[in-house]
Amino acid sequence: MSKEALNEAAAPAAAAGQSLFPTYARYPLALVKGEGSWLWDDKGNKYLDFMSGIAVTNLGHAPKQVKEALVKQLDELWHVSNLFQIPNQADAAKLITDNSCADAVFFCNSGAEANEAAIKLARRYNQKVLNNGRYEVITFQQSFHGRTLATLTATGQDKVKEGFAPLPEGFVTIPFNDLAALKATISERTAAVMLEMVQAEGGIHPVEASFIAGVAALCEEQGVLLIVDEIQTGIGRTGKLFAYEHFGIEPDIFTMAKGLGSGFPVGAMAAKEKLREGFTAGSHGSTFGGTPIATAAVKATLETIVGERLSERAAKQGQYLIAELREKLAGNDFVLDVRGLGLIVGIECAEPIADILNEAQERGLIALSAGPNVIRLLPNLLVTDEEIDQAVAILTELLAAKRQ
Ligand SMILES: *Cc1c(COP(=O)(O)O)cnc(C)c1O
Repeated sequence: MSKEALNEAAAPAAAAGQSLFPTYARYPLALVKGEGSWLWDDKGNKYLDFMSGIAVTNLGHAPKQVKEALVKQLDELWHVSNLFQIPNQADAAKLITDNSCADAVFFCNSGAEANEAAIKLARRYNQKVLNNGRYEVITFQQSFHGRTLATLTATGQDKVKEGFAPLPEGFVTIPFNDLAALKATISERTAAVMLEMVQAEGGIHPVEASFIAGVAALCEEQGVLLIVDEIQTGIGRTGKLFAYEHFGIEPDIFTMAKGLGSGFPVGAMAAKEKLREGFTAGSHGSTFGGTPIATAAVKATLETIVGERLSERAAKQGQYLIAELREKLAGNDFVLDVRGLGLIVGIECAEPIADILNEAQERGLIALSAGPNVIRLLPNLLVTDEEIDQAVAILTELLAAKRQ
């Protein structure tokens, strides 16, 4: 299209996002307002949100406590360099260390950056503190760790790597839940093993308890760092503040983002005491990481989730959601499995489900996929029984139409 034609078409073109890179297959909906579990589009239609911005709005949309903290901070100070003390950042870090196995926290702005920090820390600790030159990071098939060059290399899915060669060296991907494969792969090069407790983007596959226990024991025995990616599973969603708590293990390093700021963009990497000296002044950093505003959101989010015991609520509501789905979908041969942990729930179907998500939107329910055949449900932690009943009713009806 010529520049003039583009300008003439400016208003509708802007709405259709003509000035954006086509990096997302976007739905036509333009959502303009959110409150709790509900969203409204620009035509005034109302939707029940079982996507939560992909596990971001764990407290629902526009939660009062976080909004008040942000408004207060907006009045006081927006940004200051990390060359100064940032009280909110120190408080937010303490909330993380007080409520986890970690002792030190680094703030950044996204999940990929949190995983980058974890990978860099694992390498630097081995190379500068232990002086053993180890660099390799072992990850798993179907995992997802982000879109930067290092984190897409760590990701165990080819589709995120296509066209981006050459990829950084030092990553090996092996089958998930396969301890023998891990035993065979760990070597004197191995710095770390990195994994999710529930592979979320990869199709809602929880880690097997015996496997993760074996991984933790093997890492300990071989002097390999264990990195847990809690970016989607963390901040109460699976029924614990962090999903590793379900399995009686303690990672050396874990990463957070998505739910950490209730929608304000923020990520963090947390690690055990021994790793503190892996990062010295000037070895890593971020202009925006942990600003007063971002960490006001983190503080209010964590205080609410810990203070109101919302992890326990997520466990209870997740059990109810899974039980209702299993009961209502029993006997439907289009549905192969219903599984999950807390409020990360997957419905595995016999065929691709993209059309079901479109139909669900038409019925007022927003959900997403996890791979082609799995419907992924990620309601907020405050979701009510009635809201779960509504979502289950819509999905049951749509899935009944697919019975073979
Ligand atoms: C979303 C996600 C990431 C990447 O986070 P971004 O904020 O999109 O960079 C990494 N790991 C997991 C498990 C995720 O779900």
